Amino acid sequence: MSSSIIEVALPVPMRQTFDYLIPEHLIANASENLHQGMRVQVSFGRRQLIGIAIQLKSSSTWDRNKLKSIEAILDTTPSIDAEQFRLLEWASRYYHHPIGEVFHAAIPAKLRKGEMNKRPSIRYWRPTELGQQTDLAELKRAPKQQQLLATLHGQAKPEAVLREQFATALFTALEKKHLIESYEFVPPPNFEWHSELTVDNKPFASKEQAVVISALRQQLGQFQVSLLEGVTGSGKTEVYLQAIETILEAGKQVLVLVPEIGLTPQTVERFAARFNISVGVLHSGMTDNERLIVWQQAQAGELGIVIGTRSAVFTPFKALAMIIIDEEHDSSYKQGDGFRYHARDLAVMRAKLSNIPLLLGSATPALESLHNALQKKYQHLQLHQRAGSAVKPTFNTLDIRQQHLQYGFAPDTIRQMNHHLRQGNQVLVFLNRRGYAPALLCHNCGHVEMCNQCERPFTLHKNTHILHCHHCGNTKTIPSHCSQCHQQDMAPEGMGTEQLEQGLQHLFPQYSTIRIDSDTMRAKSRLNQILEDIHSGKHQILIGTQILAKGHHFPKVTFVVVVDIDGALFSANYRSSEQLAQLITQITGRAGRAQQPGEMWLQSHHPGHPLIEDLLHNGYGHFARQLLIERRHANLPPYSYQVLIRAEATKAEAAFNFLHNVAMGVRQTQSSDSNNSNNNSSAASQVNTIGPLPALLEKRQGRYRFQLVLQSMARSPLHTLLHQQLQIITTMPESKKVRWSVDIDPQEFY
Ligand code: ADP
Ligand code: ZN
Repeated sequence: MSSSIIEVALPVPMRQTFDYLIPEHLIANASENLHQGMRVQVSFGRRQLIGIAIQLKSSSTWDRNKLKSIEAILDTTPSIDAEQFRLLEWASRYYHHPIGEVFHAAIPAKLRKGEMNKRPSIRYWRPTELGQQTDLAELKRAPKQQQLLATLHGQAKPEAVLREQFATALFTALEKKHLIESYEFVPPPNFEWHSELTVDNKPFASKEQAVVISALRQQLGQFQVSLLEGVTGSGKTEVYLQAIETILEAGKQVLVLVPEIGLTPQTVERFAARFNISVGVLHSGMTDNERLIVWQQAQAGELGIVIGTRSAVFTPFKALAMIIIDEEHDSSYKQGDGFRYHARDLAVMRAKLSNIPLLLGSATPALESLHNALQKKYQHLQLHQRAGSAVKPTFNTLDIRQQHLQYGFAPDTIRQMNHHLRQGNQVLVFLNRRGYAPALLCHNCGHVEMCNQCERPFTLHKNTHILHCHHCGNTKTIPSHCSQCHQQDMAPEGMGTEQLEQGLQHLFPQYSTIRIDSDTMRAKSRLNQILEDIHSGKHQILIGTQILAKGHHFPKVTFVVVVDIDGALFSANYRSSEQLAQLITQITGRAGRAQQPGEMWLQSHHPGHPLIEDLLHNGYGHFARQLLIERRHANLPPYSYQVLIRAEATKAEAAFNFLHNVAMGVRQTQSSDSNNSNNNSSAASQVNTIGPLPALLEKRQGRYRFQLVLQSMARSPLHTLLHQQLQIITTMPESKKVRWSVDIDPQEFY
């Protein structure tokens, strides 16, 4: 009997697939025209949806008379190829997330919307005739414009790649001078890129690097995960570059993941400076067409290197030979809502399915990765020395108890800043709290202005004259009177980066200060511009939040001040000490990259805190190994496995009751299982429920939030149990009254 039914995955939150009939005129050729991974258009209720074909069938468990026919087949070749399909199927099972939503998260927006999978046109820039003839020296007063024109000399380039290195204003400036022009263009296929490959600016690898590079080259063609643990500035990127050389020469492909879009420019620049091939870039700052084309070019084998953020892990490749994840510890690799995948864990599975090596690089590896390396599941590669002649930074904790602080700084700190600035160096001041002050308080009655949606204090933003809730985005004008006692005595409480900036401008009026946080860095081109200004020495004092900890290099910074870390020392989240240690180490790693040694001061009310002492004296590597021992004693990940079920509702009882019922269900299932068999009650198969407890942020946007943790010493019983429970949960009436979600291997508990 011929296959007349197609099973389809649809982007709906239901944990099932759907059967559709194949219309008469398509049935004869269905086995040729309709393949797994192709997009089909179907009607679903009153809507038209784009689904992914799973398989042809000759019968359905549903009543055949009630099945609808598909409306159209949108692909001639599968949008999701066989390799991707297997990966996403696995991801759907592992993350217990509906397969249709997983597929949708993995394909470019254009394909999601049902547009044809043909090559779109994208914007290119090229020099005009005048631009070709212009002597570059004429632009020496505008070095960046000069550089852009030089880059375009004799060749057109896609704007998406140019934007990584050049601010938008530069294009406009050169266009006004009639030196460059843009045009829309559909790039023709280029399969011969590797025949033109050259390797430029390659330094000799250090002994340590050489050992690592040769270990990595031996892994090619087989599945192997390696953790490259190398202090900041030890030349990890150089290792990546040399390790992939032979891959590119053979015409094969490499995927490089970076934590955030601000880091793509410097990575693209390093790779492009070494290999004269076009690099594909994938991140959220690109147009839909630009993303689609990189996806298509990678799939066709036309790109040797693709550099992207989290979701680039889904890019299809013709001949992928290695995946590299830089700064693998970074929390941005974990998707925080919807399909909550971890790009690192997906990459492990992808490498396994494709039988290729995966390289994880970090100065501050995640405890999960370190654990796997120490267990010898991952190959453990290490770089202990900084590359070139750079020297390691020194640390100092400063006791600020009973000190007279000026704008948050102890007198010694100010003196030391002065010392470094006078020598012509840069100083970096770190505070992980943006805005002017974390609260606005009435000095008369003590009333704090709270967000009524979240029951948390509003953050005061003086520059924009507004109170801003950092949890839900709620805003309010700054009141002149206290809403409780009506006195005119409202004052900022605590310190944010805005206030720090103001203070530093008072303390050091002769130096230029620049603040780098998500308020000042809304536009990516602005970050590029500011990074450039910092490198050129335009600013001497850099103030910033954790954005500064993310991989940017500041060679002229010799002094780093961490203004206040006390809050982070006493967090309820067991992961916060790991995160704090990573942050401090990464921040310090930004300093003293060149010949000058860096110095780092930590201001604290708890100078003797064992956590800080261990980190400062013994380094992250030692600290992390100690933390692993603690985690083992406490049966916490990576020694156990967790699932977090979140629920929120406008009525607190609804969220609580829902999770309470889930917890009861889990316990019931377990006790009936252990009654039915004798050996099932072993500790390993035991799943503990913790909660329901209020989330760290108890209320957000007017909804009360609770969470339930399921924890087990073994992964498979936990997942089996969750699978069973999800089938029950989805039919529970309580589940309709709350918003709930499942988070596998949760990272955050807010
Ligand atoms: P990481 O990625 O570990 O932070 P990088 O690869 O960025 O380190 O290297 C830090 C600096 O040292 C860079 O400026 C890089 O060009 C330089 N460097 C790395 N390896 C070498 C080498 N073998 N010889 C000379 N300079 C090197
Ligand atoms: Zn709020």
